[in-house]
Amino acid sequence: MSDTPRQLPVHAPMQQFRVQDGELVVGGERLSLLAARVGQTPFYAYDRASLRARVKSLREILPAGIKLHYAMKANPMPAVVGFMAGLVDGIDVASAGELKVALDAGANPLEVSFAGPGKRRAELRQALASRVLINIESPREVVELAALSAELGMPARVAVRVNPDFELKGSGMKMGGGPKQFGVDVEQMPELLAAISRSGLAFEGFHLFAGSQNLRPESICEAQQKSFELALRLAEHAPAPVRFLNLGGGFGIPYFPGEQRLDLQPIANNLSHLLERAHREMPQASLVIELGRYLVAEAGIYVTRVVDRKISRGQVFLVTDGGLNHHLSASGNFGQVVRKNYPVTIGNKLGNIDTEQASVVGPLCTPLDLLADRMQLPIAQVDDLVVVFQSGAYGASASPQAFLGHAACPEVLV
Ligand SMILES: *Cc1c(COP(=O)(O)O)cnc(C)c1O
Repeated sequence: MSDTPRQLPVHAPMQQFRVQDGELVVGGERLSLLAARVGQTPFYAYDRASLRARVKSLREILPAGIKLHYAMKANPMPAVVGFMAGLVDGIDVASAGELKVALDAGANPLEVSFAGPGKRRAELRQALASRVLINIESPREVVELAALSAELGMPARVAVRVNPDFELKGSGMKMGGGPKQFGVDVEQMPELLAAISRSGLAFEGFHLFAGSQNLRPESICEAQQKSFELALRLAEHAPAPVRFLNLGGGFGIPYFPGEQRLDLQPIANNLSHLLERAHREMPQASLVIELGRYLVAEAGIYVTRVVDRKISRGQVFLVTDGGLNHHLSASGNFGQVVRKNYPVTIGNKLGNIDTEQASVVGPLCTPLDLLADRMQLPIAQVDDLVVVFQSGAYGASASPQAFLGHAACPEVLV
């Protein structure tokens, strides 16, 4: 037995932002000035330099032949989508609403793909007329697209989203393998591909997406490898050569104590190997990975102001002007099984300030409205600024903003 105390797990360091005069610097501005510029709290802020740096570092490590797509459901703020469209090779959308934002942002329709279960006829029509690639997820979509192609006098560009016969191990959210509403089961593929062929749709390739928020490189590599092999097998039944192979993504980021940043090197090596194989075995195919949170989450913060400081039976509560209604995932209510704290700090008290154990709660009348559960934080008073890191994805647009009638939360790209 060693007598060193057991180390409690801690949050990965949040080094994407500088600190100046005891304040976090976001978009080149001290937090208190940024808050003044926004004109209110709460707000979300996304940092351009940090977004750019993330894409740059990813490009440096991944092989040059890999196409990088941004899955915009992670953060659909139009300014962010516009900024990302200039950095990545394509945008992945999941509704006609997102499609509009992507096209408005200047994304090249030939590099936009549209996935999602339950695409309505009107959405398919819009996607077809926009000339984007439609990821087919059911036999019904083939029938609808054949009719729409005839009506509009142009064949729909399609890929098939495959529900594989494997799962992404260690993934926060599994979206492939087993019975799923996403994609078409491998077993049904020969029939579906034959239907596409008969319908005269322009077949371009396959889309596989096994899951999300994965921090295990070996699992991601395994999923990519298996996806590639599955696509090779399916290509034999395809009506045309595969030109597009979306291997999914699932790259995670560290949210909770004990989690570390994903090691990209093994993934980059694996993708290099798959590129070589594609060159020989699927020579017309470009390989795509689609990332949402990995590209944008770490560049964003949620900022909310302390409205009240209360002590209940010895426990400190910082009551803020925003919470679950704006940031459902930080409250632990967006798919988490066990609630854990996001990295949180007092963004204007980062100097040499004593800390205390405090909980950060929002203004809603529900105990679920919790942003930090008994965390060690700089000692905060009314008007101080609570910062929730890792908030650039699944924040504003993934939260019940109308709940309890508080005002919606502004977002700024800085
Ligand atoms: C949600 C989703 C993504 C993005 O997932 P992240 O965890 O944000 O990277 C990518 N592809 C598909 C098909 C999705 O549904």
